[in-house]
Amino acid sequence: MKIAHSLAEYAALRSALDGPTAPRVAYVPTMGALHEGHRSLIKLAKTRGDMIVVSIFVNPLQFGPNEDYARYPRPLEDDLQVCAADGVDIVLVPSVTELYPAGRQVTVDAGALGSVLEGHSRPGHFNGVLTVVLKLFNIIRPQVAVFGEKDAQQLACIQRMVIDFNLAVEIVGAPIVREPDGLALSSRNVFLSASERAVARSLSAALEKAATQGSVRSARAAAYEVLDRAEAEPCFELDYATIVNPATFAEVPDDHVGLAVFVVAARVGGTRLIDNTTINFTPAPWG
Ligand code: AMP
Repeated sequence: MKIAHSLAEYAALRSALDGPTAPRVAYVPTMGALHEGHRSLIKLAKTRGDMIVVSIFVNPLQFGPNEDYARYPRPLEDDLQVCAADGVDIVLVPSVTELYPAGRQVTVDAGALGSVLEGHSRPGHFNGVLTVVLKLFNIIRPQVAVFGEKDAQQLACIQRMVIDFNLAVEIVGAPIVREPDGLALSSRNVFLSASERAVARSLSAALEKAATQGSVRSARAAAYEVLDRAEAEPCFELDYATIVNPATFAEVPDDHVGLAVFVVAARVGGTRLIDNTTINFTPAPWG
């Protein structure tokens, strides 16, 4: 496994791959603190490409001023061991100063899709995500890139950018990896105390209950039964729990039929958690 700490080091490795027998480069962007969710993306990438590139970069541009950029976990040595064990070919670990040199000005605007829900609670977040992803696509030059469905709105924004900017990268979504009790794996779960960890389970529990319902109205009610109980705990503060169109993230009407995504976000102690599930709503039977 090769480790590139600078863009020049990566460029040298990448240009050696060009030519008539060029391998298909499959790319997994991460912020590190790798867990089984990231590893599942690497595994999926291996089925889609011949060379696997992972980047590890905690992107300051996607964090708000009062968010957890400074304390975000950065266990780089462990991460490199995970990548090596999982058969990654190249890891790019760029520096903030090289990705964001003084004088930079131009950023990507995620549009309406990037200003609702997560984008509403975290202003500028998706502009920061899309800006770094576009830069990394240009640097890495992958044929395919894998993103987790855990960050469903992020995945939708990236798919939108690829269409709107005519990017020659195939985007692949990977299913959410969960703890045995349902909690979605996240690098931020390490911040949860034991009692917060128990309350955090309410997010996936609410989604599980909603997913067994036939209508939007009953799915919402089932989820809120669980979330209302969680809100009785002082450490739990719900941000949103909304059923949305998978492409636009606009709220679907009560009589919606077909696929929709139930997205939830909450603060548990000092930690912001998100989760989602896709539900196929069926037409109500007559009678
Ligand atoms: P992050 O390091 O949090 O920026 O995540 C890097 C990639 O891993 C993103 O595409 C995430 O959606 C994905 N990811 C994070 N957690 C999970 C999970 N529990 N299951 C699947 N993918 C995940």
